[in-house]
Amino acid sequence: MSERLFWQDPYATAFTATVTRVREEGGRFLVELDRTLFYPTSGGQPHDTGTLGGVRVLDVFEPEKHGQRIVHVLEAPLEEGAAVEGKIDWTRRYRHMQRHTGQHVLSQAFLRAAQWNTIAVSLAGPEIHIDFDVWPGPGAAEEVLAEAEALANWAVYANLAVSAREVPEAQVPLLPLRRMPKVRGSVRVVQIEDWDLAPCGGTHLRSTAEAGPIKLLGFEKGKKKTIRVYARTGWEALEDYAAKHRTLKALAGRFSAGVFDVPERVQKLEDELYAARGEAQALAAELAEHYARELAQAGFPAARQVPLAALAETGRRVAEWPGALALLAALEPGGEHARLLLVAHPDREAELRSLWRERLEPLGARGGGRGHIQGRLAAGKLQLALEAFSGAAKENP
Ligand SMILES: [Zn+2]
Repeated sequence: MSERLFWQDPYATAFTATVTRVREEGGRFLVELDRTLFYPTSGGQPHDTGTLGGVRVLDVFEPEKHGQRIVHVLEAPLEEGAAVEGKIDWTRRYRHMQRHTGQHVLSQAFLRAAQWNTIAVSLAGPEIHIDFDVWPGPGAAEEVLAEAEALANWAVYANLAVSAREVPEAQVPLLPLRRMPKVRGSVRVVQIEDWDLAPCGGTHLRSTAEAGPIKLLGFEKGKKKTIRVYARTGWEALEDYAAKHRTLKALAGRFSAGVFDVPERVQKLEDELYAARGEAQALAAELAEHYARELAQAGFPAARQVPLAALAETGRRVAEWPGALALLAALEPGGEHARLLLVAHPDREAELRSLWRERLEPLGARGGGRGHIQGRLAAGKLQLALEAFSGAAKENP
């Protein structure tokens, strides 16, 4: 059994304790102490890291659900009975406290905004999420989120005190708890002044002010009739804002515009791209028709390099000519590889496979297909391939 120092003072970062048990399991050392500041993964809050007796603590967990024991996973063993000094990684823990306190504030904000009840939370990463017991549809959800976010940040600015206490089992039903406890016996409840009261075993801040800002990031429909809401709190909300601001500012810089002009500039680019694609398609079609006629006039079989944009369309048009049998090739962007397209009029399709095997595979061409053969070849072999096919043309008039 370990005394839970993180409940007595969630702001303490160093402690001394006695090692009560050590065992090895798969190259990891599992250490138990008579008292600890290391919070074990539970209630959605991730475990602490840090050092014990100078040895790195990699993981902290409870071996039994709702049990009293806490196990520390270490890189190296400690001596049983030894007094050790422990230090937790405060930067990490403080973020967990911001996430957890922010989640309490948000759960209450959603309850007040729209009577949404929290059914599950995850505080595992900087982007926390809360699941609620309703699915109101996307439009109504937007409105509730906006209201809850405002309420939550008012609770932050009001600098409400956060406290925790043990309540005997008999008194639990008398409390106006936001949700029922998951454990029997006496219950640890966390109170945010007159804002929120909930059973919880996590670590929390002294005041809601330390959890701000609270920013909702979005939502999605959950399983059955539920909604999942994503949020960031404290430092992690500020970091997100800074990163997004940096990105948007850089993007605006590329347009030589203000950040709020970016959507309009992107729209303009999209319109231009759409028009350019249409124009390129029309030109490629015109070019393809020109190549197809040229090849037909020269006589089949024929071989020719064409621009990549005109490759497929040229192939389609050539294959319409009676007696057609042609190798078309185009350089891919980057110039390292060439795309090959071997096409024939339906009455000569039977010849494609053997031509491919005899003339192009020896050069390293790889490909396949039905009706026509598509493939690739190293760009350096492209001229050889065109000549090899012209050779085929001479032998096979
Ligand atoms: Zn909590």
